[in-house]
Amino acid sequence: MHVNHRSRWLFATATAIALTVVTLPGAAHASAGATIDPDEQYAAFLAEKKADGSWAGSADPGAKAKAPAKDLAAYPKLTDKQMAAMRASVKVAPAGSEAVTVQSVQVTSTGMSVTTYDPAPGFTPDQLADKLRKQGKASVRVVRESSGGVSTKAASDCSYGSARTLTCPVSFWRNQGWEDPYVRFNDHSGASWPVSSVVPKWNTVQNIDSEYRWNSCPAVSGSRCVDVFSGNYGAGWTGRTTLYWASGSSGAFSNSNAMVQLNDYYDSASIGGTRNNTTTHELGHALGLGHNVYSGDVMYTYANKREDLGGENPVMLASIYSVTR
Ligand SMILES: [Zn+2]
Repeated sequence: MHVNHRSRWLFATATAIALTVVTLPGAAHASAGATIDPDEQYAAFLAEKKADGSWAGSADPGAKAKAPAKDLAAYPKLTDKQMAAMRASVKVAPAGSEAVTVQSVQVTSTGMSVTTYDPAPGFTPDQLADKLRKQGKASVRVVRESSGGVSTKAASDCSYGSARTLTCPVSFWRNQGWEDPYVRFNDHSGASWPVSSVVPKWNTVQNIDSEYRWNSCPAVSGSRCVDVFSGNYGAGWTGRTTLYWASGSSGAFSNSNAMVQLNDYYDSASIGGTRNNTTTHELGHALGLGHNVYSGDVMYTYANKREDLGGENPVMLASIYSVTR
């Protein structure tokens, strides 16, 4: 037991040293000037958004605004054969590796909101948590989970290979009358955040449908809107995802208050990976994935250059959503 604990400590220390070395030049960042608080930004959005989900405070999208809300049929799903190949090539995480997640938890009279923060280069999870506490964020915690190894892939399982679900027991989007849960990403973020190309990537996952929309998410019965923002939120984290569970929801995400916020503070040189990596990672959280304990995975605790979904994450998600709930 002691050996295991020690090896975990060594792993964490090695990771911290590696990050320190990588990020010495990373003090430079993209956004000069005033920073904004992400919660204040969201409060402004809620106060000002129109009935169709549009918001005048959205960033300049550049060419993204021309990306139409495509018919979901334009986003092909992985085939059963491709899924089988992913299952066959599962990567089991090295012994002693763990997923570390920084979260702020807010309990209200109507439910519980959990925001997952992803540490930027130069910040360990504990340092980021300290900073968030000083900023007054509610109930900040650092969650450490070891690899569960290859599970039996039942929809109730919390891990598969090196992938994990966001919560254990599993949380999920409900079908609400659709064959698959239907999640529309309502993008308000700037041109350099490739949400329009990342959403179709997640839509390849079987059993859950993801659709891209620019600054528009009119009510469609049973569908969901996840709002995506960018802004200069200051140093500490690359992106954060907030999900909400209404009281008595039995693990189902609620439509309200689901959002992703992508931090302009770090440019592509200082982010520790790419903005594509950060965007893919945060949208993975929004669909129900937690951190992958494998350091080469797009859902790893720390930013990296990985931009594809890997094998375990689609298998994990397809398993969660194989059940109509
Ligand atoms: Zn994360």
